Amino acid sequence: MSGGRPPVLFPLFAELETLPGVGPKTAQALAQMHISRPRDLLLTLPTSGTDRRTRPTVQGVPSGQTVTVQVTVLRHQPSSGRGPYRIYVEDAQTTLSLVWFRPNRGYLEKLLPVGEERLISGKLERYDGQAQIAHPDHVLPLGEVATIPPFEPVYPLTAGLTGKTMTKAVVAAVERAPDLPEWADPGLIAKRGWPGWKAAIQKAHAPDNAADLSALAPARERLAYDELLAHQMTLAVARAHQRVPKGRASQADGRLQSMVLAALEFAPTGAQRRAIAEITGDMAEPRRMYRLLQGDVGSGKTLVALMALLAAVESGGQGVLMAPTEILARQHAEALAPLAEVAGVRLEVLTGRDSGTARAARLAALAAGEIGILVGTHAVFQADVQFADLRLAIIDEQHRFGVRQRLELGRKGDKTDVLVMTATPIPRSLALAQYGDMDLSVLDEKPPGRSPIKSALVGADRLDDVIAHLRKAVAEGRQAYWVCPLVEESEAVPMVAAEARFRDLRAALGEGVVGLVHGQMPSDRKDEAMAQFVSGETQVLVATTVIEVGVNVPNASIMVIEQAETFGLAQLHQLRGRVGRGAVQSTCLFLYHTPLSETAKRRLTLLRDTEDGFRIAEEDLAMRGAGDMIGIAQSGLPHFRIADLESQTKLLEIARDDARALLNTDPDLASPRGEAMRALLWLLEQDKALGLLRVG
Ligand code: ADP
Ligand code: MG
Repeated sequence: MSGGRPPVLFPLFAELETLPGVGPKTAQALAQMHISRPRDLLLTLPTSGTDRRTRPTVQGVPSGQTVTVQVTVLRHQPSSGRGPYRIYVEDAQTTLSLVWFRPNRGYLEKLLPVGEERLISGKLERYDGQAQIAHPDHVLPLGEVATIPPFEPVYPLTAGLTGKTMTKAVVAAVERAPDLPEWADPGLIAKRGWPGWKAAIQKAHAPDNAADLSALAPARERLAYDELLAHQMTLAVARAHQRVPKGRASQADGRLQSMVLAALEFAPTGAQRRAIAEITGDMAEPRRMYRLLQGDVGSGKTLVALMALLAAVESGGQGVLMAPTEILARQHAEALAPLAEVAGVRLEVLTGRDSGTARAARLAALAAGEIGILVGTHAVFQADVQFADLRLAIIDEQHRFGVRQRLELGRKGDKTDVLVMTATPIPRSLALAQYGDMDLSVLDEKPPGRSPIKSALVGADRLDDVIAHLRKAVAEGRQAYWVCPLVEESEAVPMVAAEARFRDLRAALGEGVVGLVHGQMPSDRKDEAMAQFVSGETQVLVATTVIEVGVNVPNASIMVIEQAETFGLAQLHQLRGRVGRGAVQSTCLFLYHTPLSETAKRRLTLLRDTEDGFRIAEEDLAMRGAGDMIGIAQSGLPHFRIADLESQTKLLEIARDDARALLNTDPDLASPRGEAMRALLWLLEQDKALGLLRVG
């Protein structure tokens, strides 16, 4: 089995300048379009096509359209002064003129002799009712009609790159496309009627008509599939790498779980039951769990996490729950402690703040196996933190983790089951693209009995009204969040808008009533401000988006978000999810500055009209495109040249299943099809996954 890029691919990875007609200038222009090798040209498909089928006349053809007609040359009218050189010709029905600026007269006389017939092709224009074609693209004797492609592909271009040069370079690159063995599933190929890879490349660059340019055209669909397949293959390899046999199964007997369920004053939702069953089922298998629990804010992920942690304890081991911040770790611990107590399981917290003898005692208890559940920040990964028998690690709210980080995490303990929890509703296509290496549990059902949040869009000019309402609500004992965007007042003095609003609201509502929390405060002051809000000592909490994730204060029923138009949709949804957690009717006010752009208005209106995080995410994706989604943009989402995540979700699912199936039957990619897959991974530069395959 070869270790490096297959030699058959070398010509596709050579310098661009090895292609005819490509010099340093063209290479530079192509680099602007992220094209640096012939391979990149192959994957740059035409975006449209020019119809050059011959027609009898230009009569009735609108200005601006490309036409190809047979004409007879009538007369030449050479340039006079600064005017152009004009040649009058006639087709089957009408006369038109061909126009050149600064021409070579001898050349034109040879090209279009009076009385002769020629085929011409170019963009038709009309001036004062007169049809003309300036600088025709083609002028040919009738015998050479066949050299004009009836449908000419049009490529994306950039400054310093003409269509002719681009086309020539692409044609040369396509000629280099080697025959490669088939890597896709033969059954799938047959079912979809897809050509082989090389034929697909040839066809995609030589469309016959507009239909061939559609993403649904077999050649283009196949190439999109290849891209998705290569990426899913990488994820599948990463997944297989994570799920190495751990040599034992965590068999939970449900004893502790049922004690807790009996003590709850509510019944788990169907979605929670399903997720719990999927997780405990996975943990019972003798291979490592590697699963994503996805659930919108308020969907009840915490209970699912607790059940998983208890399963770890039931099977004689320990579990750890890791939160991204100190605040969240403590909040999780507070929520879980009473339930752990019901089950008779010792639960402790460990964060970076713990030190001295208390910490030492806790570590000793952990190493002795006396602590069943540890809740903490990433401090739990410090070297001196030793578990007696860690069976499950849960990572909360790590929606900005890419595949690479997940691989890192796996190295911390290669026998530990891993559950990642995210509250970011991700459209299914993105979830597959981003987390295709993980198994997915989705909480798609909210606990019953919640009254919907009343949302409204309010212009910033009504700030005084908003504050007046808030004063009334505070008098009634209600609690509110007031979220401000981060702004820098000046370069020298970075100031958080929240601080200014904090002062205003304190003046308006009373000193002791208003608290402040933002990211630039020291963490003990942040915690103090949070604690005062949780206890009800303060009733209004002015904050930045630090409260975006996880914070749970059921009595808080009002959310005000200033300059809502500056936040991402997903973020606004997360923020709003901080209210609506208790029995009382909650309100969310999206304050905005006028004038609001059309897009901003559409986005905020969508948010006002639905609380369904998945719908918001889908529409956000449709409105803005995959690359732009906040939070997802930085998350290592793959960039595809041909495939389109928004419209090709089905194809992505097939690719995922195909990749996993191949890896199941051929874990080392050693079969003929496995070898072919290796070539695809090299071709599409997904070869990093190959390094993870077990050798031999
Ligand atoms: P999130 O998924 O946002 O982390 P939580 O786990 O914090 O959601 O749950 C939100 C609230 O819903 C909590 O107060 C929790 O006690 C409550 N809850 C969870 N599951 C249920 C259920 N099945 N029925 C009723 N309330 C529930
Ligand atoms: Mg939570």
